[in-house]
Amino acid sequence: MTLANIPPAPELPGARHLHSGKVRDLYEVTEGPHTGKLLMVASDRLSIFDFVLETTIPDKGEILTRMSLWWFEQLAELVPNHVVSTDVPEDVRGRAVVCERLDMFPVECVARGYLTGSGLLDYHATGEVCGIPLPAGLEDGSRLPAPIFTPATKADLGDHDENVDFAAVAVAVGAETAVELRDLTLRVYGRAEEIARERGIILADTKFEFGTARGGSGAIVLADEVLTPDSSRYWPADDWQPGRAQPSYDKQIVRNWALSPESGWDKASGEAPPPLPQAVIERTRSRYIEAYERLTGERF
Ligand code: ATP
Ligand code: MG
Repeated sequence: MTLANIPPAPELPGARHLHSGKVRDLYEVTEGPHTGKLLMVASDRLSIFDFVLETTIPDKGEILTRMSLWWFEQLAELVPNHVVSTDVPEDVRGRAVVCERLDMFPVECVARGYLTGSGLLDYHATGEVCGIPLPAGLEDGSRLPAPIFTPATKADLGDHDENVDFAAVAVAVGAETAVELRDLTLRVYGRAEEIARERGIILADTKFEFGTARGGSGAIVLADEVLTPDSSRYWPADDWQPGRAQPSYDKQIVRNWALSPESGWDKASGEAPPPLPQAVIERTRSRYIEAYERLTGERF
């Protein structure tokens, strides 16, 4: 599948466009003190079912950028991160970060403390997730006996990431590094889950990406965005009830609307969903802000 509906990345002074994903645009800094570093810009784009929607959510890029920066700080004792500066071009201020350019490990390092999504599908099919056997009788949203490392391989733009087992990670990055990535993923998830829980939020699962500094010590550095609703599942702890889909702090409002008769959209059509009604835009924006404020304790 191709994702033709990603708009062209805006030109930015002192930066050269490298790549655009569904939501973020990546540049290389070409001028000033940060020359050669990466500039990661979060747009207000939103994707559901792998479609980038025509409608954007005002402030989403800034909310997620601030959330990610807040988490990097909370986790700095556990793991170094790629953040260099938030001094960025005017046009993208507040929603862009200058980062150290790393050699990335070709693994999406996913940790799950709860069972849902692709993990639940795998469990129903095999009783395992990424080769890890789980007890019988788990349901959608069940808390796992202990958090598990469920890596995935990065797919090309528009393709789905594929869950793989630990052995596949060992083949990709070497056995020793695979152990390090797994342990680090679980350690960081464990701390983040604890912090979120103190604030009434369940961090059901999340995806990290790690890299190493080029020509550096080989130390593993946390990169990409971290612990945003785009890379994580956040559920209000009060509403948690295994055995059904959990209400969540993300684009669920949009997904529900798109699948409802109101949208007139047929998921099987292969066409992108229609533009969102104003009320859906506003509710989605509020939901992201609520997640940000609840987690960080700060006003957006
Ligand atoms: P998708 O929209 O499905 O996520 P994508 O992963 O191609 O597609 P982005 O997530 O926007 O799109 O792309 C960000 C890219 O930057 C990823 O390939 C990620 O691995 C990479 N990346 C993140 N941090 C760093 C870093 N510090 N150094 C080098 N590459 C990085
Ligand atoms: Mg990505």
